[in-house]
Amino acid sequence: MKARGLFVAVLLILLTPTLSFSTTLSGPFRLPWDENQIWTACPTPGFKSSPDQYHMQWNGDVNPNTGLPINKYHDGEDWNGKCGGDTDLGAPLYAIGTTGQVVYLDRSAPQGYGNRLYIRYSIAYSKGTNGVLTFDMGYLHLQDIVPSINWDPNTPGSGSFVTSGQLVAHLGGTGGWVPHLHWEADATNLPINTNQYQNPLYLSTALSYRSPSLITDDRRDQKGYVFPTTYYGTFTMSGNAPSSLAYVEYNGEKKSLKNAVAAGWIPAWAINFYDTSSGKWYYYTNVDDNFFQNGKQYAIIANVSNAVFRFFVPRNSFQPDRARLDMLKAASKDSRVSSILTETYSQNPNWDTNWVLYSLSFLLTDSRTMAFYQVTSKSNPLTRYTGFYDPNTGAWSGWVWTDWNALY
Ligand SMILES: [Zn+2]
Repeated sequence: MKARGLFVAVLLILLTPTLSFSTTLSGPFRLPWDENQIWTACPTPGFKSSPDQYHMQWNGDVNPNTGLPINKYHDGEDWNGKCGGDTDLGAPLYAIGTTGQVVYLDRSAPQGYGNRLYIRYSIAYSKGTNGVLTFDMGYLHLQDIVPSINWDPNTPGSGSFVTSGQLVAHLGGTGGWVPHLHWEADATNLPINTNQYQNPLYLSTALSYRSPSLITDDRRDQKGYVFPTTYYGTFTMSGNAPSSLAYVEYNGEKKSLKNAVAAGWIPAWAINFYDTSSGKWYYYTNVDDNFFQNGKQYAIIANVSNAVFRFFVPRNSFQPDRARLDMLKAASKDSRVSSILTETYSQNPNWDTNWVLYSLSFLLTDSRTMAFYQVTSKSNPLTRYTGFYDPNTGAWSGWVWTDWNALY
């Protein structure tokens, strides 16, 4: 960053070029179920606060169809109502965000999958392609899919558009299971018929799935600042917000910071912060590569009137999922890594006063094993480091900082 007075920056706004992007971004996310749902068969309303099977958990349960243990990794989450069993059968399920589009559905209830529905979302993410991250949210084992939801396999792009909170399906046990929602988040290049249970789970496949709860949890709590004039607004940040998720809303359109600069809505030096030690304002030279820190004062300049600047403050309710994905990402930088070693994930909240320790081991192409570690700060869980022991040398890599704007 460079030292630069706020008013100097304002004078340069007129030089900003104007371009146009047309990506429609999804808004804040919500859970796919009603958190206050009450069923007559269940005196305790609501869903469980954590899944019965979490993302990338090793599943040794007995398959009710075969009577044999599953013994595979689970690329998704299994959610149940608080009373379990069949009490949650028929629970309404909703679209999690505005402007999702159906990209696949199957009402023929095949064995294993059952009735299923996949909805695609695009969200502002400065580290994604062109400042956008696109993924598919899958709902499986459904009792039914709402009749008005359509998708024609012969006409690409013909799937129904859905809005946040729109009823899309009901929870079921189709495909041969006890009623539950299998919920997953897939990269868009993933064939939808890929089996969600895998062993071995290759690194390349594991990286194609995300944790649906983590994606949603990071993007539930939205804050907004309205700039009624083209000048600037100042505010003190409440919570820790990665700039990678922030976006600008103007004239009914949403753009990630990078694209808002390209469109001329905000200048490239739009984000200024107050440095308490020097008593001066500074600006970031890259709007989408900074981090809004709790308690710090910011000033944001807009080129247009009535733009709304929005942030997400992650709740950090699914830190183990973030840790696991951090370790997968670290392992992907080592070409020797092949697949995840069976049941080697662990976490230790008491490892250090300030840090939680996670670990995961991998099988290498030459059949040796390699352990990766991740530590998460207890005071700001977006502060993370990863490290590993090199099996060739026995040497410790040292802790490598993970960009706190890097999410999943
Ligand atoms: Zn499942």
